[in-house]
Amino acid sequence: MTEPRTLTELDYTVVIPTAGRDNLAALLRDLDGAKGPPPTEVIVVDDRDSGAALDLPHLALPVRVLASGGGGPAAARNTGWRAAATELIAFLDDDVSITAEWPRRLVKDVSDLTADCAGSQARLDVPLPERPLTDNERDAAGLMRAWWITADMAYRRSVLAEVGGFDKRFPRAYREDSDLALRIRRAGYRIERGERVTHHPVRSEVLLTSVRAQRGNADDAVMRHKYGTQWRDLAGAGPGRFGGHVRATAAFAVAALSGVAGRPRAALTASAVWAALTAGFAVKRILPGPRTPREIATMALTSALIPPVACWHRLRGELTVLRANNGGPRTAVLLDRDDTLIEDGPYLADPDGVRPLDGVAATLRRLRDAGVPVGVVSNQSGLARGLLTERQLAAVNARVDALLGPFDTWQVCVHGPDDGCTCRKPRAGLVHRAADVLGVDPAQCVVIGDTEADLRAADAAGARGVLVPSPRTKSAEVLRARHEERLAPDLDAAIRLAGVS
Ligand SMILES: [Mg+2]
Ligand SMILES: [Zn+2]
Repeated sequence: MTEPRTLTELDYTVVIPTAGRDNLAALLRDLDGAKGPPPTEVIVVDDRDSGAALDLPHLALPVRVLASGGGGPAAARNTGWRAAATELIAFLDDDVSITAEWPRRLVKDVSDLTADCAGSQARLDVPLPERPLTDNERDAAGLMRAWWITADMAYRRSVLAEVGGFDKRFPRAYREDSDLALRIRRAGYRIERGERVTHHPVRSEVLLTSVRAQRGNADDAVMRHKYGTQWRDLAGAGPGRFGGHVRATAAFAVAALSGVAGRPRAALTASAVWAALTAGFAVKRILPGPRTPREIATMALTSALIPPVACWHRLRGELTVLRANNGGPRTAVLLDRDDTLIEDGPYLADPDGVRPLDGVAATLRRLRDAGVPVGVVSNQSGLARGLLTERQLAAVNARVDALLGPFDTWQVCVHGPDDGCTCRKPRAGLVHRAADVLGVDPAQCVVIGDTEADLRAADAAGARGVLVPSPRTKSAEVLRARHEERLAPDLDAAIRLAGVS
């Protein structure tokens, strides 16, 4: 956290990613008719790739529809919050139902938020039948206890920007919310549980729903890669069943191979082990349920299919992670804002005054295409000096993000030179925080800026620094950087000098 931020104004934007579910129209109508302070805007992010128009009811509330082209809910939510103008973002999923009191309760939940708190999670209520629950219903019931579910979650926009929003490597509504929350907590924030209650349906089920859900094992591979083997504890994900799936799949493979190799006794033994493991798994899923013939048949079939399918998806996920990392540890690029990314208007307060420097957009695109994380580390003492407001600074940074982003992290020091903070460059704080958020070592970061303070911040943090002078850079600083062989004429040359790409 670079600066405690209290929510002084309770303006909020509702962001709804949608796959075009029927419930969306009802949700929008409920929002329109609900009691309490209305949102400044509702942003519906259409994540279908069909290009067909969404069929939306006419509302009194201002509604904006954006398209995200089928990148999944994580990418769609990023499109939504980045376009929003308010500090508070309330995410709703398109399949939930809100109460008539929702806006009032939301505002109550967030108005208590302290400065170190990034957001407020709703309590999800899943309507369940009175009889014993099916496997699918038990899964849905888990949402009522789960942490950080984005089906109804309000976050501060500044915190989303600081951590770079959702990781779009999560392509489905699975683990993407845990991953975001873990990064927000690593950045030093808490997430509160609010009092508002929102209804979440049990998704309808077909025969192989539980088998299809095994695609999530690929996302578990990404989690393990990002947070280490302790990720399940960190994310409150429970022990999971993957170990059992590996044993059942291994027994099946040994049985098949022994059969092919003409070793019938070994094949028989391994088959017996496989059958016992599979039966045990099925019984565990059947016993707590309604035990109807249909549920028993579904559980018997899917309990045999799930283990190999789970292993396959996990393997696929691990290979994707490996392929993305085969260049060794990742290098991150951290950029100064004024006179490095955009023209420096002293204490720029108006987003319309944002002018990207020549060539910067193309260089950033090339870095992102190469998978290099890119962040901003910026001193903005204008706030401490009373020359611009928090709102103006946020609007300017949002414009920079829209023109040159999305950046994977924004680290901004809003203190004055005499405040004695640890973040203002030439101190190391901004670089350290950016490295933390990006999950890289500071030694893997290249800091590029137009003043010696940028280079000294890099040195203090143990990162590398490259100076790209502007017409305003002091000539003594340029000479020193040249002597130290860390001077480049433009951003593109700086990237090459640092050996990033
Ligand atoms: Mg600068
Ligand atoms: Zn500071």
